[in-house]
Formats: sequence, structure tokens, C-alpha cells
Amino acid sequence: MTAQRRAVLEVVRASEGHLTAGEVYAAARAVHPTISYATVYNSLHYLTRMGLIAEITFGAGANRFDRIVDRHDHALCEGCGRLVDLELPETADLMRRAARQSRFKPVSISLTLIGLCPECQAEG
Ligand SMILES: [Zn+2]
Ligand SMILES: [Zn+2]
Repeated sequence: MTAQRRAVLEVVRASEGHLTAGEVYAAARAVHPTISYATVYNSLHYLTRMGLIAEITFGAGANRFDRIVDRHDHALCEGCGRLVDLELPETADLMRRAARQSRFKPVSISLTLIGLCPECQAEG
């Protein structure tokens, strides 16, 4: 792995949350001032293909990169865009039921709670 790819991986692993490619780029530049956005972007997709990080897609919003590659669920704040990890044991059961209904062979399922985080509720 190149030093630049490693730097991108470290940025994602060090973050608490779920960074966009732009946020990863800003943090990676602090370590490698000459790194380009294209290198960061390509590295993120390389690391995702290698299973070292996970990419999360939400409708029209920018994709985020997650240091947790095991299956988990999220809560997304509509106010500030904050994305929080959730561990819902019921989703395994939901996946079996969804597979039965759709007659799909299940691979994965994920749930996203969309709402307002505590800070945004306090502001409202
Ligand atoms: Zn919020
Ligand atoms: Zn996550």
C-alpha cells in the first residue's frame, strides 16, 4: 500500500464519525500537503474494494466513509447531517423475513433512522 493510501486509511480510522470524501481530503492534506483530491478519492474507493473501510450512500447526499466495516445501522440527523452508529440486534431477524417475502438470497440489510439529533431538537 502506498504512503498516501495509508494516510487516507488512517484519517478514516481516526475519525469518530463518517467523513465525506471532501472531509477526508482536508484531513489528509494536513499530513501530506501535496496529496490531490483525485488521489484521496481513488484511495477511498480502493480501500472500500479491499474491505478496509465501508462506503455509505444516502440518496442525494454525499457518500460517507465508515471505519466500521461490519454490518451496523445508522441514525441520520436531517438538521446537521450527523451520522451515528447503531447496533440493532433485531435486523438479523428482519433480514430473514425480508428475504422470505422477496425470495431473495440475503447478503446484508441496514436500517437508517432519519430524524433530529438531541442538539438539533434543543435548537428547535
Ligand atoms: Zn443534528
Ligand atoms: Zn457507521
